[in-house]
Amino acid sequence: MKLLIMGRPGAGKGTQAVNIREYYNIPHISTGDMFRAAIKNQTKLGLEAKSYMDQGALVPDEVTIGIVKQRLLEDDCKKGFLLDGFPRTIAQAEALDAFLNENGIHLDAVLDVNVQAEILVRRMVGRRVCKTCGATYHVEFNAPKKDGICDNCGSALIQRADDTEETAKNRLTVYDNNTAPLLAYYNKQGILKTVNGDQPVEKVFNDIKVVLGE
Ligand code: ADP
Ligand code: AMP
Repeated sequence: MKLLIMGRPGAGKGTQAVNIREYYNIPHISTGDMFRAAIKNQTKLGLEAKSYMDQGALVPDEVTIGIVKQRLLEDDCKKGFLLDGFPRTIAQAEALDAFLNENGIHLDAVLDVNVQAEILVRRMVGRRVCKTCGATYHVEFNAPKKDGICDNCGSALIQRADDTEETAKNRLTVYDNNTAPLLAYYNKQGILKTVNGDQPVEKVFNDIKVVLGE
């Protein structure tokens, strides 16, 4: 399976990506996670990405395209992959297409997890993530059993630096301006599959399996 997962910030891409990764046994490649890891490790990439992420702005295309291409050339991607949060601009989509063509790779589907914008600021502001295993929770919609502690591994949950109300709103505007046009781009290629993301997590995953032909 060679897949992209798209959707507005907070739509549930990362949450579904974990299910998809396990079910189809493919690597989950999230550009947001790659940038956060680079920030944590205080690399040059991390320093550059942080200034954009803190504003809810996009990291420049040339930087982002470079790290994705490098990642897709790794051995574990031969069996398939799930790209999450990339591409986010037409330039990124065109660069990805050129790379896939050069390497004889075809995407099986582009999943669009569709959620109306109104609920998404609440989803982002209430998001909590495990700093060890990366599991995602929500203080209201998907609370851990024990407040602030990961159900999976027992580590502390943290709030992402960019999950403030102001930055979340900005990310939704950036999505409308830069990323929304990609839906028409992939629809034209005949590989866009839309699922309703405003349902319980398990139901969304079930719908994903259905559109992927299960
Ligand atoms: P994205 O990767 O698209 O930004 P996440 O998967 O991190 O989104 O989800 C954003 C927030 O919404 C998280 O707090 C997550 O627990 C919660 N969430 C995800 N899917 C659902 C859902 N189907 N219903 C309610 N809340 C959800
Ligand atoms: P995410 O984890 O997908 O919500 O992404 C968090 C932030 O990382 C975004 O708000 C951007 O600042 C940055 N980012 C992630 N993916 C990309 C991308 N494909 N292009 C540009 N910036 C990105």
